[in-house]
Amino acid sequence: MTGRDIAVGPIILLGAPGAGKGTQAKLIAGYYRIPHISTGDILRENVAQGSELGKKAKAVMERGELVSDDLVNAMVADRLNRPDTGRGFILDGFPRTAAQAEWLDKMLAQEGRGAPVVVSVGVRYNQLLQRLTGRRTCPVDGKIYNVYFQPPKNDGVCDLCGTALVQRKDDTEEVISERLRSYERQTVPLVDYYRRQGRLRSVNGELPVEQVTEQIFRAIEGGAAAAND
Ligand code: AMP
Repeated sequence: MTGRDIAVGPIILLGAPGAGKGTQAKLIAGYYRIPHISTGDILRENVAQGSELGKKAKAVMERGELVSDDLVNAMVADRLNRPDTGRGFILDGFPRTAAQAEWLDKMLAQEGRGAPVVVSVGVRYNQLLQRLTGRRTCPVDGKIYNVYFQPPKNDGVCDLCGTALVQRKDDTEEVISERLRSYERQTVPLVDYYRRQGRLRSVNGELPVEQVTEQIFRAIEGGAAAAND
């Protein structure tokens, strides 16, 4: 892919933990040369740095619960203020509650940034569990592997740089079930919220990565084939 500098506006990837939002968001962001804004990544950076925000978020994240709307909204507002978001941006893991979605709508309208395209990435529960328990990440370049479906060439180390892969602290079975519960309770209602607004596009997240990416491109650019809701 060559990448394109067109204005795409705000894009939201909606989906359960493990649906592949992070993988897809990176590919889409690279193609359009827009920033990939992952609230989970920003929170993890804050935890690693021991910032005030990180201190507040750490325990909540380790339990698999959601960080408070106020903290996350403020963090997103801050990130969207940076000049690289002008042509568009892709949100991964935000919004996750009705309050966050309403806040975002208001903010986008106030700033005249245009309404978001919302792409819901669907993956069934059992698949999600395997994806999450098998997920390993390279701490250096962020490449994501899965010990069941997409193992590295050499056990436990990154294909690109040879660094030892790590498992996210919240990818343990106990925390995973709480994260999926939070998702069912707080994030699934957003599918209806955006469907009512006529903004929702649904894609099948169980297809091979490249096919999911293709569907997302079509959804973003208004192709009917990917919009099966
Ligand atoms: P993720 O990497 O998107 O799975 O996020 C990891 C964790 O960060 C979640 O389990 C939450 O604790 C927290 N988090 C990320 N995004 C949000 C959000 N939009 N609202 C509340 N908490 C969030």
